[in-house]
Amino acid sequence: MKISLSSPALLVPALLLALGCAHAADLSPTEQNIVASIKARSPQALQLLEQSVNINSGTMNHAGVRAVGQLYRQALDQLGFATRWIDMPPAMQRAGHLLATRAGSATRGKRLLLLGHLDTVFEKDSPVQRWQRNGDRVRGQGVNDMKGGDVVILEALRALHRAGALDDTTITVMFTGDEEDAGEPIAVSRADMVAAARRSDIALSFEATMRNRAGQDTGTVGRRSSSSWELEVKGRQGHSSAIFTDKAGYGAVYEAARILDGFRQQVIEPDLTFSAGLIVGGTEAAVDAAGTKGQAAGKTNVIARSTLVRGDLRYLSYEQRDRAHATMRAIVARNLPGTSASITFHDAYPPMPPTPGNLAVLDVYSQASSDAGLGPIPALPPGQRGAGDIQFVAALVDSLDGLGVAGNGAHSPDEDFDIASLERATIRSALLIYRLTH
Ligand SMILES: [Zn+2]
Repeated sequence: MKISLSSPALLVPALLLALGCAHAADLSPTEQNIVASIKARSPQALQLLEQSVNINSGTMNHAGVRAVGQLYRQALDQLGFATRWIDMPPAMQRAGHLLATRAGSATRGKRLLLLGHLDTVFEKDSPVQRWQRNGDRVRGQGVNDMKGGDVVILEALRALHRAGALDDTTITVMFTGDEEDAGEPIAVSRADMVAAARRSDIALSFEATMRNRAGQDTGTVGRRSSSSWELEVKGRQGHSSAIFTDKAGYGAVYEAARILDGFRQQVIEPDLTFSAGLIVGGTEAAVDAAGTKGQAAGKTNVIARSTLVRGDLRYLSYEQRDRAHATMRAIVARNLPGTSASITFHDAYPPMPPTPGNLAVLDVYSQASSDAGLGPIPALPPGQRGAGDIQFVAALVDSLDGLGVAGNGAHSPDEDFDIASLERATIRSALLIYRLTH
């Protein structure tokens, strides 16, 4: 390749761009050190991930969750963090959490809270393979959700440590042991995380990144709540031949159908979903205590007396939730003759709205990625993600999620990840942590 000496300023950046290289000039010498040490350790990072994936840590396999915690704890001890294991009360039947802290002179940079989780949805008896490499991808239990992201945290911190860039920083790392099925009461199982957020300025969570349609890795600036509702409808039992008269009424099944269709026609809006997942109706209808199984009895010649519906509701802000609740309640109250209905709502995960503060953290992340030659990082549309741990702290601190590895099929037997994404995510995250803390 010939490079004309007459216009080097024009050609050299174009060449670097074409080769996908880092613009060395965009990274400080310390940052270049950090990137180099991450690249040098890529094989060991993959080994650490393999080692942790080979320990089954289904949420209910407490010994496994603690063993993964012990592995990560050793790494954090080596980096000069103060580590401790937090047990949950035995009645909660959860393994507990790993907490690691370091405190610097608070005048400089932001105080960070880094979030990962030790558990996976794959319990001890799961037939899903633990670690199976196929070329440049690996299938296995929790490889992208989220042991891959956990290793991103550890390797990013390790590179910063080697560059002397952890000195004087204030960083808390929390690996929860029950993200996939948070222990009840939530006020207890997430108390330590909330307390850590109160001592921090920014929360970063390392759940898998999600690719957009253009194939780019994205950042998660918003996540929707998870909540549920129960609809209970009553009708007047009677002879079916009299249905639709004022005296006999319309029955509980028609009234439930009217309500659900009203939801569909009047409540749908962007970033809001509500799914009716279970319905039973007839002369008798019952749902079990777990809310996942129902029983019904009825006859074609008897007007239905009872209908029960269970559903979820996912929203991006409390304003959106309140608006949806008000419309749903109004629809429920407009009863057909001879029927009555009531609806109750239960919140589980709070929403993480895409605030300007969250977008500002994404800007730093995207710039760091561009400066390292890894391309800009756009925001994932917030409606496209389920609930996660970061939502318990998002109201307290600026928050960014999706800093982990790239993969497919989380929670399924096909869960996998793209090996190259481990190094890529580690470089971006290390530079982000460096820039936020300096
Ligand atoms: Zn997860």
